[in-house]
Amino acid sequence: MPKQKIKSETMIKITFPDKSVREYESGVTGYQIAESISPRLAQDVVACGVNGETTELNRPITEDSEIVLYKFDDDEGKHAFWHTSAHLMAEALQELYPGTQFGIGPAIENGFYYDIMPPEGVKISDADFPKIEKKMQELVQRKEMLVRENISKSDALKFFGDRGQTYKNELISELEDGHITTYTQGAFTDLCRGPHLVSTSAIKAVKVLSVAAAYWRGDEKRPMMTRMYGISFPKKKMLDEYLEKLEEAKKRDHRKIGKEMDLFFFSERVGKGLPMWLPKGTSLRLRLQDFLRKIQKQYGYQEVITPHIGGKSLYVTSGHYAHYGKDSFQPIHTPEEDEEYMLKPMNCPHHCEVFALHPRSYKELPLRIAEFGTVYRYEQSGELHGLTRVRSFTQDDAHIFCRPDQVKGEFLRVMDIINTIFKALDFKEFEAQISLRDPNNKEKYIGSDEVWEEAERAIIEACEEKGLKAKMETGEAAFYGPKLDFMIKDAIGRRWQLGTIQVDYNLPERFKLEYTGSDNEKHRPVMIHRAPFGSMERFVAVLIEHTAGHFPLWLTPDQVIVLPISEKFNEYAEKVNAYLNAHDVRSTVDDRNEKIGRKIRDNELRRIPYMLVVGEKEQSEGTVSVRKRGQGDQGSMKFEEFANKINEEVRQMTENL
Ligand SMILES: [Zn+2]
Ligand SMILES: [Zn+2]
Repeated sequence: MPKQKIKSETMIKITFPDKSVREYESGVTGYQIAESISPRLAQDVVACGVNGETTELNRPITEDSEIVLYKFDDDEGKHAFWHTSAHLMAEALQELYPGTQFGIGPAIENGFYYDIMPPEGVKISDADFPKIEKKMQELVQRKEMLVRENISKSDALKFFGDRGQTYKNELISELEDGHITTYTQGAFTDLCRGPHLVSTSAIKAVKVLSVAAAYWRGDEKRPMMTRMYGISFPKKKMLDEYLEKLEEAKKRDHRKIGKEMDLFFFSERVGKGLPMWLPKGTSLRLRLQDFLRKIQKQYGYQEVITPHIGGKSLYVTSGHYAHYGKDSFQPIHTPEEDEEYMLKPMNCPHHCEVFALHPRSYKELPLRIAEFGTVYRYEQSGELHGLTRVRSFTQDDAHIFCRPDQVKGEFLRVMDIINTIFKALDFKEFEAQISLRDPNNKEKYIGSDEVWEEAERAIIEACEEKGLKAKMETGEAAFYGPKLDFMIKDAIGRRWQLGTIQVDYNLPERFKLEYTGSDNEKHRPVMIHRAPFGSMERFVAVLIEHTAGHFPLWLTPDQVIVLPISEKFNEYAEKVNAYLNAHDVRSTVDDRNEKIGRKIRDNELRRIPYMLVVGEKEQSEGTVSVRKRGQGDQGSMKFEEFANKINEEVRQMTENL
């Protein structure tokens, strides 16, 4: 019965993520599989995962496989969609500006970019975006397929060489022959590994977002390329929503609000990426620090202060020295020959020295050493961004030295701290990610199986006990220990990575840290690094963008501003202000010679929660007219009464913190 035999040879088993299995004829494509499930799915699917690798929907599948069908909503789907859109933008640029040279064009977190070198004399600016978008839409109408081809290295070099694509040729020269593929749609061919959409026709909405300068391969000595950013969606409505969110994000930009509220600034002379905290920003930051300090004290932390630099031998011991390359801050030299200091990139080595100061007993553990420690890390100037990417920042750092069996308890305690902070600052939604080691690659990690298993189990159990939804990422752990990262969702749905709790077996080993156990033997402690805010800079930036600068009353730099309606009442305004300040209310006076309407507008921009208007009537009655942010006129009251009201409001907010 040959027929049956042929059937069994040409049928393959396809296993879906829910472990269900279906049989298909060999050579079936992801698209056909989607079609066989539902026409709706076939419409939405943009790429497929075959045995863990994302590929095109039209690639024949010829063996038993596990497959996942990705829609745009999936990260893998977005990646293929945006990566294809980068090719589409390149195709448009090639038509509009013949002779353009192409660098790389990856998908990124939100959209895609392409680094290009426009032909001699062409400079692309914002004004060109509509033209580029129009061309992309026109190309989409052609419904071009992306055709994948294997190509030999020499053919690839010739192909791109003939077209003057020197950057592509540089990339090809570094590739291994036999593993080079190109994708072509219409007249545009790109060196690429994929994966892609089957056709550009699925790209229903495109927007060129911005243009920036970027060094070729991030190297300041290489040519300056033009980086074109764009985004695209399968539906026009999705683009509209995205652009709306982008508008909202612009309004919340912490760099803009930081200026409006006089929180911080950067000075070219001080140096790029080195934030300067102004009095208002400093008051905000110190209040945040005091808030955390108070909680830490309750949780048994002890604070230390250590220098901003450390000697070479400290970093040789910690292992950081090996990572100080040409692309970091360079060592600091002294008149002593061969003496070298480093700007501190982390506080941990200093804290290891604190632990090592004298013999430790198990009775002292867990030893929790905290420091608002300022660290310095060199970032390329193109990477710097407001307070979120800087070269100097202050971590709300602490290192916990404990026994292996104390890891879980410490995680639970740190999670409580983080929970308290997020709640107090109105971050309602947050997620966590647990980074575990790759169990198939154990030699990569230091520390015994036993301690890894114990620590990983401790983290997972701690999350379960706290009811914290945590994504587990196998193979994502650093070589020195597993970790737990926290991600918050802000008021407009953006995700920000904040605090981390990291187990470390490496530094205690390198610093030969020991404690005497109850068995009178020497043991090595486990070290846990933790920073609930991450850094003060990053946290303040996120807080500004989350609240749009409308900080909670207990935290905000200025709670009240007194606005005399004319100079005649400046004296009374000062009297009110002095009373408020004497009663723990953070208040100032706007005694500028401006119209009251102007004063109100200006101080709204400074996001001061309460404005107190004072004129003839208020002065004679000993009252203030209260305007509350977002709620307008609240009527008038005695200023003593107002001070009580503010203090009561703050007390209610903070009593449970
Ligand atoms: Zn590509
Ligand atoms: Zn650390």
